[in-house]
Amino acid sequence: MATQIKEHWQNYIDGEWVDGSTKETIPVVNPANGEQIAEIARATPDDVDRAVSAAREAYERRTLYDMRPAQRGELMLEVAQIFKEMAEDVALVDCLDSGRTLGGGRNEAMAAARYFSYYGGAIAQFEGKSIPLGDGYVDYTINAPFGVSAQIVPWNFPLQIGARSVVCALATANTVVLKTPELCPLSLAMLGEACERAGVPKGYVNILCGYGHDTGAALAAHPDVDHIVFTGSVATGKSILHAAAERIIPCVMELGGKSAAIAYADADPEQVIGSSAVGIFSHAGQVCSAQSRLVVHKSIHDQIVDGLVEKSQALTIGPGIEDHDLGPLISEKQLEKVEGYCMTGQQAGATALTGGRRCDMPGYFMQPTVFAGASPDMTIAQEEIFGPVMAVIPFEEREEAIEIANGTDYGLCAGVYTRDLETAHWTADRLSAGQVFINEWFAGGMETPFGGTKRSGYGREKGAEALLNYVQTKNIAVKLGAGAGGRPGG
Ligand code: NAD
Repeated sequence: MATQIKEHWQNYIDGEWVDGSTKETIPVVNPANGEQIAEIARATPDDVDRAVSAAREAYERRTLYDMRPAQRGELMLEVAQIFKEMAEDVALVDCLDSGRTLGGGRNEAMAAARYFSYYGGAIAQFEGKSIPLGDGYVDYTINAPFGVSAQIVPWNFPLQIGARSVVCALATANTVVLKTPELCPLSLAMLGEACERAGVPKGYVNILCGYGHDTGAALAAHPDVDHIVFTGSVATGKSILHAAAERIIPCVMELGGKSAAIAYADADPEQVIGSSAVGIFSHAGQVCSAQSRLVVHKSIHDQIVDGLVEKSQALTIGPGIEDHDLGPLISEKQLEKVEGYCMTGQQAGATALTGGRRCDMPGYFMQPTVFAGASPDMTIAQEEIFGPVMAVIPFEEREEAIEIANGTDYGLCAGVYTRDLETAHWTADRLSAGQVFINEWFAGGMETPFGGTKRSGYGREKGAEALLNYVQTKNIAVKLGAGAGGRPGG
C-alpha cells in the first residue's frame, strides 16, 4: 500500500474546493513520528460566513426538502456506495493523520459508509402523525428541518462522528456547515468528495478546517445558523452553548466521559479482562466512551488486575500503518497531559502496576497503564484522561459500587459484568449513563442511541432516534368545509 498522500488539501464551500480567504494553511502531522505529511487550507471566519450563506441559499432552494424521502434516501445510499469504494484510501489517510491502527482506519471508513446506508434506508419511514380532533377537523404533524445545521467535530473519531451528523441532517433536508478538527481533518474532506461525486446538491454540505477559537467560535455564533451539533470537550461545549443561548437555537451536546464498569464476584474473569482491555486500550484510550474505570468486587480484584496487567504488557505498540494493537496519541500536548495525569495518580498514592510513562521511541506513544489502589475521589478516577489509562477500584457491597460508578460529573456510558440477570438489570437501572453495556464494553452499535447524562451532554446520536435531533415538529390543524366555525381549543 502506498504511503504517499496528497500534499495540499482544501475546504469544500458551495460545491467548490477552495483555499481559505487568507491563503494560510494548517500543517497535518503524523503522530507516529511527528513529521508533517500534508497541509490543509485554513478557513477563517470570512470563510464561515461564505459557507453559511451557501448553506442558507441551498436550504431556500428546497431541493432535498421537495424530494420524496425515499429518493433522498437513495442519494444517501449513493454516498455510502462511493465511500465504500474509497474505504482503503480513506483508511490509509486516516491512519497517517490520526495515528489510528490500520484496522481502526478501515473500521472508521466502513462505519461512515454504514451510517449513510442506515439513515438512507431509515428516512422513508420517518413519519409524522395524524391527531384526531373530531368531526370537521383534520390534524397532522410534519418533521420539519431546522435549516442550516452547524457541526463541530473532535479529532478522535472525526469521520464516524461527522458522518453520522451529516447524514442525519441531509436525510431530514437540512443543510450542513461542518468544521473539521484541526488535528485530524483529512478523512472528513474525503467524505466531502464522496458527497460531491454522489451528486449531493451544491451548498448542502460545506466542510471547513480551522482552529476552534476563531473558526469554530465564528460558526457557533453565526446569526444565520439554526442548529448546532457539537462533539468535544465540556469546556468547549459550554462556550458553544453560551453562543447558542444568544439566539435560542437548539444544540446536541456530545461531551466527555469517565465511564465505569462494575465487575461482580460472579463475573466471568476472562470476559472482564478481555472486554476491559478493549474498552480502555482501543485507539489508545482516546475514546469518549472508554471504560476508564473498573469497579471490581474485592473477591476477584487481584485476579482481574493480574490479568489486565498481563494483557497490557502483551499489546504491541507502533505506527498505526503497521497495524499494531496500540498507535500513538494525537499530539505531544496530549501525551504530556496523559503522562501528567499518571504522575498525579502516583503522587496521590495509587500504583501504576504497568505503564505510567511515554514509550521510549519517536512519536507520541504512551504505555498502556493500569492503576490499582485508586480511591474514587482521586483525580485519575474523576477526570477524563483521554489516554490508555485505567483506574481499578475495589468494592464490597453493590450499593457502594453504584455510588462509585455514579460519583463523577460525567454520565456517558457504564457497564456491568455478571452472570446474574437480576443483578445486571438492578445495576443497569441505577447507573447514571446514556448507554449501559452488559458483559461486553462497546456492545452497542450505530443502531443504538448514544449520548450522555450530566456533563456528558444531552441529545442522542446514532439509532433511529437520532433523526429526532434534526427536526422540529410542525403541527398543521385543518378546519374542513366552509363556514365561520370556531370552537374552544384545548
Ligand atoms: P475540543 O472541545 O477541544 O474540540 C472539539 C472541536 O471544537 C474541535 O473541532 C475544535 O476545533 C472546536 N473548538 C474548540 N474551541 C472552540 C470554540 N471556542 N468554539 C467552537 N469550536 C471550538 O475537544 P477535542 O480535544 O477535539 O476532543 C476531545 C473531547 O471530545 C473529549 O472530551 C471527548 O470525550 C469528547 N468526545 C465526545 C464524544 C461523544 O460522542 N460524546 C465523542 C468523541 C469525543
